[in-house]
Amino acid sequence: MNYIICHYNEIGLKGKNRRFFEEKLIENIKKNISKNFFKKIKRISGRIIMELNDLTKIQKEEIRGGLEKVFGLAYFCFAQESKQELGEIEEQAKKLLKKEKFNSFRVSVQRSNKNFPLTSVETEKQIGAFVLEEFRKRVDLTNPEITLFIEIVENYVFLYTEKIQGLGGLPVGTAGRAICLLSDGIDSPVAAWQMMKRGLEIVFIHFYAYSENEKKAFEKVKNIVKILNFYQFQSKLYLVPFKAIQQEIFKKKENKYCCLVCKRIMFNMAEEIAKQEKSFTLITGDSLGQVASQTIENMNVIEKATNLLVLRPLISFDKQEIIKIAKKINTYDLSIIPTRFYCQDCLPKHPITRANSGVVEKVEKEIQINEVKKEILKQIIIEKFKLSA
Ligand code: ATP
Ligand code: MG
Repeated sequence: MNYIICHYNEIGLKGKNRRFFEEKLIENIKKNISKNFFKKIKRISGRIIMELNDLTKIQKEEIRGGLEKVFGLAYFCFAQESKQELGEIEEQAKKLLKKEKFNSFRVSVQRSNKNFPLTSVETEKQIGAFVLEEFRKRVDLTNPEITLFIEIVENYVFLYTEKIQGLGGLPVGTAGRAICLLSDGIDSPVAAWQMMKRGLEIVFIHFYAYSENEKKAFEKVKNIVKILNFYQFQSKLYLVPFKAIQQEIFKKKENKYCCLVCKRIMFNMAEEIAKQEKSFTLITGDSLGQVASQTIENMNVIEKATNLLVLRPLISFDKQEIIKIAKKINTYDLSIIPTRFYCQDCLPKHPITRANSGVVEKVEKEIQINEVKKEILKQIIIEKFKLSA
């Protein structure tokens, strides 16, 4: 196996922008795979091909793990190259299938180089007859134990038996940059991941006001970002001290509104950071009806606190669906580590579920946060994360 063939879906539809998407995809693949593993990587018609060095099984597993985290890939395959000549293709087919155990097979040919003398079907028949003769196994076109895939493209021929599923979506960075409000819970890491999948590069903001063991809580959030960073290769996390704000909010009696006001301040402060990051988009992990602050009425009032475009990728997801993704991407075990927020000791029994923006404005006028906000903005810590491929 001396090549990897990377296939994509949606990029193929991008018309004039296609080159930009393909180049970004190559850039992202390179960031996730050690440069010692391959000789070259390039775009050819409708695919990206990577010529490999001689690799051990473990190194191949490493490449596979890396490519499984690159958005934009529909599937990829470890392939054997052959000259564009029937006898040679047969030889390579023999070599490849010798390593496999199977009782039934089929041959599936994709011929995009129309100068190749045989059609796809003719090639399938020819190579199929050869394999039958060589291995004496059964042909099964509907449910074979093994499929020998052959791609005839430009001046290349590639043979392989396994298509490894990629994540789909679009390459990270092709849709610009967005800010994600990252709590330390289950939902927001999943929300960030879902938007990376559509090509956004994510900058994370975490507002913290822990009542105990701040160091452990920081580690938790940083570890969540480290895991998400496997999908976008470099990340920034803004840690914003929020206790002083929460203390101001709880001075006020009308604390039915505290969660709402708290979220509005987060949205508003995120805008300052978004400006620095040249972004106008905010992502949250809200899911309709999940908690009091996530009713349609409350989300509407919260959203008014910012000029940013607010995206809520999980809005229609059930908790179980979110948990399933969190487990798949490995953030779940971190998210469920218990932490205690300062506000948890002061929360109202019956938070407002249908906020009235007039009342919210009145409550906010009585809270003096401008000075506190200025102080806080000076105390932000920025953590940077990089992958070392
Ligand atoms: P999650 O499961 O993501 O922790 P949640 O279910 O606890 O969220 P809320 O507290 O209502 O629900 O938060 C809704 C959204 O607000 C979160 O998904 C996240 O995007 C944002 N958010 C909440 N708390 C914080 C925080 N401390 N820092 C940054 N963003 C936050
Ligand atoms: Mg939630």
